[in-house]
Amino acid sequence: MATENFDVIVIGAGPAGYHAAIRAAQLGLKTACIDAALGKDGKPALGGTCLRVGCIPSKALLDSSRQFWNLTHLFGEHGISAKDPQIDVGAMIGRKDKIVKQFTGGIAMLFKANKVTAYYGFGQLQPGNVVTVKQHDGSTVELKGTNVVIAAGSDSIELPFAKFDQKMIIDNVGALDLTEVPKRLGVIGAGVIGLELGSVWKRLGAEVTILEALPDFLAAADAEVAKTAAREFKKQGLDIRLGAKVSKADIKKNEVHVTYTDAKGEQTIVVDKLLVSVGRRAATKGLLAEGTGVKLDARGMVEVDEHCHTGVDGVWAIGDCVRGPMLAHKGFEEGIAVAELIAGLPGHVNMDTIPWVIYTEPEIAWVGKTEEQLKADGTPYKAGSFPFAALGRAVAMAEPAGFVKVIAHAETDRILGMHLVGVNVSELVHEGVLAMEFSGSADDLARICHAHPTLSEAVHDAAMAVSKRAIHKAN
Ligand code: FAD
Ligand code: AMP
Repeated sequence: MATENFDVIVIGAGPAGYHAAIRAAQLGLKTACIDAALGKDGKPALGGTCLRVGCIPSKALLDSSRQFWNLTHLFGEHGISAKDPQIDVGAMIGRKDKIVKQFTGGIAMLFKANKVTAYYGFGQLQPGNVVTVKQHDGSTVELKGTNVVIAAGSDSIELPFAKFDQKMIIDNVGALDLTEVPKRLGVIGAGVIGLELGSVWKRLGAEVTILEALPDFLAAADAEVAKTAAREFKKQGLDIRLGAKVSKADIKKNEVHVTYTDAKGEQTIVVDKLLVSVGRRAATKGLLAEGTGVKLDARGMVEVDEHCHTGVDGVWAIGDCVRGPMLAHKGFEEGIAVAELIAGLPGHVNMDTIPWVIYTEPEIAWVGKTEEQLKADGTPYKAGSFPFAALGRAVAMAEPAGFVKVIAHAETDRILGMHLVGVNVSELVHEGVLAMEFSGSADDLARICHAHPTLSEAVHDAAMAVSKRAIHKAN
């Protein structure tokens, strides 16, 4: 078999992999990118989980369902009414599929424009930086890279008692493709994916019950943010049961009987569909042949140092298949950093300023440390917050729920974290990211002119509240 040589071979064309491949090619390196995934139409589709069955399709459905929810629950306040509003689930899913196709096709076009050679099939790393690709037509090609970047991503974790059939027991793939609104939807896991996809189907009329084993809601988020979000979700009718550990899911006729244990003992709910969203694991099965020297940890993640290097000469790993948050933008940055390191440039990802967003209604976002973490670390801090209910723009939009909180070091005033819950906070959080990247203080943010009336004024007033000088609320 003839071997094709490259400067860089990337395994996986998700957010992490396509960023690495395009940036490497921009830097003049001869680059290949391999991806095994097929789209809904059975044809190769680049872009990974994010573009096919993750970030983008979920946001498409969140947006469609939000429009419907607003029409049926919010527009009345604006004096707008509509007779008998209906949702055409087929049209909604069709719109989502069109967006997915546009963006997965977009990556193929970007590869062409940047002269990245795409290989469609399953890549396996062999010793000596050789990668074999088993292509969809059954043939195998062999590539050799001065550098190999592993960007294999992640798959849904399956519970042994609730195997996915993608009809009754589903993961994100099934939940993004339902053909009708289920009457009763059960969700295991109140994490980001469970809350977002649970919200989609709740807004369209499903009775949604979310079972979460942990006693605290959104334990990783700021406690006040989590409390506010829980209150708003309850108002919307999302039934979130905490301390509820699921142990059984039996399909009986057209129903799923879900057994869980909470403080009151064993309980059962009966649902029409069960979404299992209990986390994701690195997709490293079959990725490494014997003798590559690349190590996997106990959870199957590729072991890397802070520069995403595996310790094997020329072999790197990035994105969901390595440590750190499983977020597309974390993978983007690692992809760019690794390509730049390969080209001899400085490349670095600051893990302390990666923003988190949950695209529910209200949205939840944060960057940096929570008050709870700072207390545990013994770091002295001061916090200031500002509610959207006191902000002209938010009230004019009929979106008064939530607040912005800025946390700064008690002595230096340096911003240590920003926590937000409310409308469009997925955009506002970047003021915090930017301020933290520039080692900004709460006073810096307080002295920056913000346009009026905007939602970002809540960030401004929260920064002023850190030193008890907010104008639009009592300090
Ligand atoms: P992936 O996107 O998983 O891509 C890996 C690619 O590599 C896949 O196409 C796979 O087929 C391919 N591959 C794997 N092994 C091989 C192999 N051996 N040979 C060839 N190809 C291979 N993150 C956010 O930041 N924001 C969001 O709003 C968001 N929403 C999400 C919603 C849902 C429902 C889900 C499931 C995830 C969401 N995520 C979100 C997470 C985000 O999708 C992931 O963090 C991101 O896709 C990880 O990128 P990656 O490149 O590491 O891996
Ligand atoms: P995430 O990792 O953010 O997608 O969240 C997954 C959630 O699922 C976590 O909060 C887990 O506590 C929860 N979880 C995992 N297994 C179970 C289970 N058997 N029953 C209920 N919740 C679970």
